[in-house]
Amino acid sequence: MGGMIRLHNTLSGKVEDFVSLEPGKVKLYTCGPTVYNFPHIGNWRAYVFEDLLKRFLLFRGFQVTHVMNITDVDDKTIRGASDKGVSLDEYTRPFIEAFGRDRDTLDILPADHYPRATAHIPEMVRLVKTLLEKGVAYRKDGSIYFAIDKFPAYGRLSKINLEDLRPGSRGDADEYEKESVHDFALWKAPKAGEPFWETEIGPGRPGWHIECSAMSSKYLGQTFDIHCGGIDNIFPHHENEIAQSEAANGVKFVNYWLHCHHLVVDGQKMAKSRGNVYTLADILAKGYDPRDVRTLLISVHYRKMLNFTFDALDQARTARQRIGNFLGELRDVTEKPGETAAVEPFIHAARAGFTAGLDDDLNTAEALAAVFTLIKNVNPLLARGEVSKEGAGKVIAFFAEIDKVLAIKPAPPTAASGKIGEYGSPQGTAELGADPEKRLEAEVQARIESRQKARAEKDFARADAIREELLAMGIVLEDTKDGVRWKKVGLPRA
Ligand SMILES: [Zn+2]
Repeated sequence: MGGMIRLHNTLSGKVEDFVSLEPGKVKLYTCGPTVYNFPHIGNWRAYVFEDLLKRFLLFRGFQVTHVMNITDVDDKTIRGASDKGVSLDEYTRPFIEAFGRDRDTLDILPADHYPRATAHIPEMVRLVKTLLEKGVAYRKDGSIYFAIDKFPAYGRLSKINLEDLRPGSRGDADEYEKESVHDFALWKAPKAGEPFWETEIGPGRPGWHIECSAMSSKYLGQTFDIHCGGIDNIFPHHENEIAQSEAANGVKFVNYWLHCHHLVVDGQKMAKSRGNVYTLADILAKGYDPRDVRTLLISVHYRKMLNFTFDALDQARTARQRIGNFLGELRDVTEKPGETAAVEPFIHAARAGFTAGLDDDLNTAEALAAVFTLIKNVNPLLARGEVSKEGAGKVIAFFAEIDKVLAIKPAPPTAASGKIGEYGSPQGTAELGADPEKRLEAEVQARIESRQKARAEKDFARADAIREELLAMGIVLEDTKDGVRWKKVGLPRA
């Protein structure tokens, strides 16, 4: 099926054929959340892009080992915990849990490992020790720094200009601008009020960059296939990861570096002062399905800036409804003599277009266009009753196949639709009377309770299916602080 997967490698600045180290297997590392707040929609853009990459590699037959770190000790988490007067663990735990919940809501496949930085201090200490022994790191005032002039390849990933570099200039901050390129902290001396570890390289705590170098090699080896992140990570984070890992291990760190572009909201950079920093919960509270969010996030190529607007989100919802309506009509096809052969060339062309699009550096716009062309071509056949039940089944199966990559398809209506008793709310059922308004209210309430129960049990697929069913009834849910509110908005237009 198809040719080679081609991916843009930040290291070469070119789109390259993807060749894995081991045939049929991919080792993937993606920089995870710094758990000092709830991720915003820009963070989710990067995580959804990484999920699309991983799902496509799986679709193309690769086995993928995926590691995502959880940064639970760095400047930001330490500041947050100290401001609140709680331990690092107490402070980060709710954010780690929220990350997992939102990840499931967005149907992002879980990684194989989620190493936490605080659980890997010995690995980091070992790496820093190696860098000291090799003479590329030095001690200063209780901290340990990486000497970037000892690593000639420094700057290759971010293409920074090292001409103005002042030798020996140092910085302790985990994040800094390209203009202030300098020796960076591998290990930071203890400070009053900050957590620290007693180790063989002295007391202190790790810098942010060393976390990823130590944890990636532990789970994926010294050289692995793909490392992802947002373009913000290129400098200094990923540049420093390369320096640490390659100076310590003497082998190439990563073959392919993939970076996702920024997300802006209404054309503007997200900022608390502008009130345009949206979390996933903020968006879902407005009645959107998480798959609308996912559809919007994947509809723009990952190397382009994505402008998040609610108009664009409405368009994504409409696109999903088109798929849902189309699948609904296919499911309604009944047994009669038809022409199965008529749909097969369209499925074939759609599969080829979908795969070729994603092979081309994950060109999702092209892949989605192939899917909508299929809908456009099959719709007239459906209207004329020329699609057999078997043919309809083949189109439905094709959508199931590609949805393993996209994960945006509306959930099929369950057999229980209309049967309230299935949702297990005795009160709701008991209130059922002849009054249609009351009947509707009871039915909606029963379903909302079932959805809450499903969410409590982390059965998000079922919770989403119930939301979808309610939407089909013209009922929109709003998750508020005071519980779930609903309103009748009329049936979505076909
Ligand atoms: Zn990282």
